[in-house]
Amino acid sequence: MVSFRAFSVPIDIRALGTATVYYVETGSGKYLVDSGMKPGTLHILEKHGIPVRDLNMIILTHLHIDHIGGAMEIRRRYNTPIMIGKEDYRIIEDMTGDPESFTGRMRDFYLSNGSDRDLLMSMLDNHPVMRSIQIYREMEFDFTPHGDHMINGENELRIMATPGHSPGSMSPYVQGDMIFSGDHILPRITPNISFYVNGGNMLSMYIRSLEKVRSHHFRSYNPGHGNPSHDTDMRINEILEHHEKRLSEVTNIISSGKKNALDVAMEMTWSRKRKFSDLNLHEMNFAFGEAVAHLRYLESTGKAEASDVNGIILYSSSSEI
Ligand SMILES: [Zn+2]
Repeated sequence: MVSFRAFSVPIDIRALGTATVYYVETGSGKYLVDSGMKPGTLHILEKHGIPVRDLNMIILTHLHIDHIGGAMEIRRRYNTPIMIGKEDYRIIEDMTGDPESFTGRMRDFYLSNGSDRDLLMSMLDNHPVMRSIQIYREMEFDFTPHGDHMINGENELRIMATPGHSPGSMSPYVQGDMIFSGDHILPRITPNISFYVNGGNMLSMYIRSLEKVRSHHFRSYNPGHGNPSHDTDMRINEILEHHEKRLSEVTNIISSGKKNALDVAMEMTWSRKRKFSDLNLHEMNFAFGEAVAHLRYLESTGKAEASDVNGIILYSSSSEI
């Protein structure tokens, strides 16, 4: 029998407000799923009587700072092992091992996907990952598994690889019952799908992972932000529909001529009908990332063509449509 308690912890991201941390108890183990953004989660858990010192593992659903920032305080206090997906671990290693090279590749990526240099560089300065490198440097990880797996022979709580929101996203689940979905499935907003500097078709991975979760027909999902919800398959269908609409919007935008990703982002409509210029720099990064992810997806399906013109990647609708 698996039981859990959900805790809402404050985070410094205006659009989200809080992250949800889960204490999960199975017949043979005690786990924490995600840890919030900052130290302080430990205090919140202990105040509510959670036996933090007995935790077998902190499972981090993915590398974003609002999910991992409270983990090290617990590990330092109680030696609790921390687990994160292999691909996310590699990104953290890449970032912290040689920050100069990582920053350089990020800068090159931004500059090759837009022509407004000043705007791109202000966006990069406000990129959430670039601002958190120091926190990543202090992180230590004990397990970095790849793919679907089990923890220490644990039967009740298994881990499903759900790449897309990040390359190494993992969702713990109880077969036939519930999934701890991190930012893979969220109730109020559609999870951000972006790019990683080493490439990859994140939207394609994400769509496949949504379909994989849907095939299990979970009775409920416990998201990384917001409350546990019971409409898992319906929410997955809504998110899939959202990306279909966004793909046709992007196809439309590049049908009138070659455009770079930043220009495409500027023509797209964002949540609550906002224009790109209405967004703050933090949100502009998300929007730019979404444009890149959708363009790469279209390119992979043959619906868009990419060409390098004077060091800038331009996309156009494929003539083969
Ligand atoms: Zn996230």
